[in-house]
Amino acid sequence: MGELERLEAEVTQCTRCLLHRGRTRAVPGEGPGDAEVMFVGEGPGFHEDQEGRPFVGPAGQYLDELLTGIGLTRGDVYITNVIKCRPPGNRDPLPEEVTACEPFLDRQIALIQPAVVVTLGRFSMARAFPKARISEVHGEPRKINGIVYYPMYHPAAALHRPSLRPIVEADMGQLPQVIQRAPHLPDSEPPPRAEQLELF
Ligand code: SF4
Repeated sequence: MGELERLEAEVTQCTRCLLHRGRTRAVPGEGPGDAEVMFVGEGPGFHEDQEGRPFVGPAGQYLDELLTGIGLTRGDVYITNVIKCRPPGNRDPLPEEVTACEPFLDRQIALIQPAVVVTLGRFSMARAFPKARISEVHGEPRKINGIVYYPMYHPAAALHRPSLRPIVEADMGQLPQVIQRAPHLPDSEPPPRAEQLELF
């Protein structure tokens, strides 16, 4: 068993925060250990909790469509979330839950060393761009501490707000170029902080 598989197994046994009490299954993430691209969502929903796999509900189907549109499949990318267990009623994760779970994501990024980390939604984005507005930074890659982060709206946001779909699809359409440019991007400062986080 490799280091990534050991980490995934560790997640399934984790009791570091109270979310372990309500989960059906933890959702460590899945994909090749040498993936060029890593997608990081917020946390598991109902379907993910049932199956123990990330992005398997309607938002996951939309993500699959988006990947197909740029010539990729699920098997080409690593997909995970900021938190690995479903919050009750799909509520937002609490700061202490994010803090407890983030070391897993840090280790996943360190092990996989993807060219690009695509953040899906505000919780994932906040790792690289604390308190930035996603409406202002989506689709703009930035290299921070040697890692290229590419913020996008969460696919679920586009399902709830159809006006976001063209934006999400345009941002995904740029991803192949972002991957290509990733090694050449200079390190940059995070964008200015906004007063409040936006939903999605
Ligand atoms: Fe552990 Fe993360 Fe699940 Fe909390 S959410 S129990 S830290 S795996």
